Amino acid sequence: MIFVYARRLLTVFLMPICVYVMFFSVIVAKAEGDKVSEETGYWTFPVEGMITDSYGTRSGGHKGMDIGGEIGSPVYSVAKGKVTKSYLSRSYGHVVFIRHENGYETVYAHLENRLVKEQQEIAQGEQVGRLGNTGRSTGAHLHFEIHRGEWTIDKKNAIDPYRVFGHGEVGQLVFAKEKDPFEAVGVAGLPKSESDESGSERKNKVTHVVQKGETLWGISQKYDLPVEDIMVENALESPNIVINQKLLIPAASPKGQYIVKQGDTLYSISMSQGIDMDELFAWNDLKPESDIYPQQVLKVE
Ligand SMILES: [Zn+2]
Repeated sequence: MIFVYARRLLTVFLMPICVYVMFFSVIVAKAEGDKVSEETGYWTFPVEGMITDSYGTRSGGHKGMDIGGEIGSPVYSVAKGKVTKSYLSRSYGHVVFIRHENGYETVYAHLENRLVKEQQEIAQGEQVGRLGNTGRSTGAHLHFEIHRGEWTIDKKNAIDPYRVFGHGEVGQLVFAKEKDPFEAVGVAGLPKSESDESGSERKNKVTHVVQKGETLWGISQKYDLPVEDIMVENALESPNIVINQKLLIPAASPKGQYIVKQGDTLYSISMSQGIDMDELFAWNDLKPESDIYPQQVLKVE
């Protein structure tokens, strides 16, 4: 009897509470997300380059976003604010911290130099320094952090910059001072003259005329090619393209095949093609110790 009663009690009182808690947490999570985009909706991107690492990688230890670029490229404040710190750190290198409206704090690390002083008021899009490779850094890049609240040593207030700028991914190009850094079209890069290409090399290649709103990233996705391949093919020094620019698109691997590039390993190919190493070995009559070489054609499906 007591069990029946307990079960009724459970149904009548506990179930609605569970349901309520479930809905409530969903609503809170959603409101939280909306709040961030509301508060940071006007922010612009700090530098031009390519995303080389995202927030939350390295077992969650990477509390910022890395943007690889050219040494000396201008780095800008993402919003107006006040410089809270500007110093040379052993790990961050030359680093600038800026406090913004609503208590946000942003961090610009590994700079080549710093152009602002502590307590200085700073406007949105004002230059804070130049992109560099100082501190604990391998290669020229900006390490950029956003904290909702102040920066602390344990970085507990850090948030994913994708929550502010929209979702991007490693390998994607971004543009400085853009509100939506993933969709902008920038200024010209010169296409390689066609005369220095032999006719045989050029067959299988198509010419793509850049349309309004297109990015090199978008084009690379369309042709299923890495961004770098298109940049190399057209001798582009920066990822910026303009409307009506003609781009030579190198031949992509035929369907079901993969053409080995320099630096590939059997492991990297299996990862990038989403197939098992065992399948890759079986289809191509390879062993784990087999050598592969650039331009080799592998069967991948
Ligand atoms: Zn980083």
